[in-house]
Amino acid sequence: HRRPIVAGNWKLNPSTRGEAITLLKLLAANFINHRNDNNNYGLASSTLPEVVIFPPLPYLSDAIQILAGSGIQVGAQTAGPNEKGAYTGEIAPSMLVSSGVSHILLGHSERRTLFGETNEYINMVLRKCLDIPSVKVILCIGESLSEYENGLLETVIDEQLRGCLANVDAKYLLSDRIILAYEPVWAIGTGLTATPSQAQYAHEVIRASLAKYYGSEEVASAVRIQYGGSVTPESMEALMSERDVDGALVGGASLNADSFTRIFDVA
Ligand code: 13P
Repeated sequence: HRRPIVAGNWKLNPSTRGEAITLLKLLAANFINHRNDNNNYGLASSTLPEVVIFPPLPYLSDAIQILAGSGIQVGAQTAGPNEKGAYTGEIAPSMLVSSGVSHILLGHSERRTLFGETNEYINMVLRKCLDIPSVKVILCIGESLSEYENGLLETVIDEQLRGCLANVDAKYLLSDRIILAYEPVWAIGTGLTATPSQAQYAHEVIRASLAKYYGSEEVASAVRIQYGGSVTPESMEALMSERDVDGALVGGASLNADSFTRIFDVA
């Protein structure tokens, strides 16, 4: 009942525009072939998983151009809370959206740990994004290794949701403007994927917190939740077989067009 969503977070890769263009062209070719195959089987594209990639900012316009017609949408890895003015180096959500970006990733653990983003800050940016019609936000949450080992998964997830979703109306969750990504920090870039049952458990915890904050099972069951952390084509199928896992947020494996395509295939 929830449409799967597969996203590729390129992070700070690749190093040059030339390499980015090569990867984008390979992705476009793979996905255009796919769409043709599916059309031949009579499958409508809306029954396929949603696909988004998040390249670094300087490559966004190349990505939008090269992926046009491929079915892959293009998102930005972060945005700031201000709309315009004297904020050197900042990027406003409206600038991204008016440049053709369909999704904005917020609250990635690397933004939190390396760049000091707090739940309050993420909440401020999220609400700016929601003021812009149509753009979707993928909001990342997840516990660190020490939190996990100290049995704090439930507390951390609950606090992150409470902080990040403060004063955010249920309508945004019900209408799919907000997608959640559960990324246990200990699984990011470590090759240590959460087991399917660990991911399922955390996704259940997320839905329980949402039901509590919104007083609504409807909100809890409407929201799509992706799993992220060392997802590969090999680990994807078992993750997707879990009831509450609605897709994947892929880092490393999204930098290889064939791996990313295979992950999409089993979503
Ligand atoms: P990896 O897939 O490289 O572990 O990265 C996960 C991630 O952080 C995606 O946002």
